[in-house]
Amino acid sequence: MTEVKERISEITPLDSVKIICVTKGFPVGTVESMGDLGVCDFGENYQQELSSKATVVKDVNWHFIGAVQRSKLKKIAEISCAIHSVSRISEIAELARLSYRGEVFLQVRSDDEVGRNGFQLKDLKEGVDLSRSVDLNIVGLMGVASITSGYRAPEFFRLMRDLCDRYGLKRCSMGMSDDFELALMNGATDLRLGRVLLGPRPTNSPGASRN
Ligand SMILES: *Cc1c(COP(=O)(O)O)cnc(C)c1O
Repeated sequence: MTEVKERISEITPLDSVKIICVTKGFPVGTVESMGDLGVCDFGENYQQELSSKATVVKDVNWHFIGAVQRSKLKKIAEISCAIHSVSRISEIAELARLSYRGEVFLQVRSDDEVGRNGFQLKDLKEGVDLSRSVDLNIVGLMGVASITSGYRAPEFFRLMRDLCDRYGLKRCSMGMSDDFELALMNGATDLRLGRVLLGPRPTNSPGASRN
């Protein structure tokens, strides 16, 4: 943690950045020990894993960062102070129906690969406008730099920051273990960091093979 904070502060003041510790695939004990170190923001990708950890660790902020399954959105919304991965118009409508008061980020797809999560650029404005008109607390956009189009994708990060500015959104959730410095240089405000804080994800965990 200390080393990561040093690397961040070489680029931008620490207090302008939220570090979300991504614990997917790690046991709940990892959350507890990071909590003891003063970490209060944690990210999870899967509703069941989130729910079971949140039953044990209650006094932290949970951020949902994984693909949303509609049937699980209610449970996700009950636990999470922020959902970074809202990717469909129907998810916005459902969150409004649930009167979700947490922070909402719309995920932007980094390329047009079929099956990837996130709004396509052409649909993003509609998503932002709808989120506002149904009174969701939309605060920013989230993006994962594509592996196929070059994992270190400065163009994508710059595009993300431009889109945030264009739509008047302050928060830009981008940057993971391998690219957070590049993301910061391009205006990230929320870093989602797993391995660089915790070491390699345990193999056989659902998140181990993914980024
Ligand atoms: C797993 C994951 C992270 C963290 O990845 P690391 O490479 O371990 O830092 C961040 N964001 C999303 C969306 C993830 O799925």
